Amino acid sequence: MPLPLGHTAIGWALSETGRREEDTSSLPGRLLLVALLANLPDLDVLLGLLLYGNGNALHRGPTHSLVFALVAGWAAAHLWRLGPRVPRVSFRMGFLLVFSHLAADLLFTSAPVSLFWPLAVHFSEGYSGWGTVVHAVVFRSLQDAGIAAACLGYLVLLRQVRRMVDGLRAPAVVRRDDR
Ligand SMILES: [Zn+2]
Repeated sequence: MPLPLGHTAIGWALSETGRREEDTSSLPGRLLLVALLANLPDLDVLLGLLLYGNGNALHRGPTHSLVFALVAGWAAAHLWRLGPRVPRVSFRMGFLLVFSHLAADLLFTSAPVSLFWPLAVHFSEGYSGWGTVVHAVVFRSLQDAGIAAACLGYLVLLRQVRRMVDGLRAPAVVRRDDR
């Protein structure tokens, strides 16, 4: 399953794709916000552990739904009001970052998510205690290296394409004849 590293890498690729040139917010601030939003749905693991001692108890429920992505996207678009250091994010990008988590869960795992909650809900089955969750986040993140590498390749390609487009857009230099 994609873990924090994989979700963050996908979110970062998404956010760089949608980033505007005039966005001058700091790199650490943007990275932190992307990591937070791209992993937000898995807050249900922490809640399950705190309330039931089982990370699977609430996992892939309401926080893995379109409704949650819309609400979280709206909240993210207003986060900048908390202080000047908080990077601005549009509602659309906030929604997409949270939605990217759901899409990755759907794409890279066989277990369902509750995309259409409250109409349908699919909680994870089984038990996973604190030890299992911490072990997975620390060690199985290595498995997400493939996702991170793919995102990195995409970002390099994106930069090249943007440079090419900028080159084409730049006004042609009129050469003077020094005669
Ligand atoms: Zn998830």
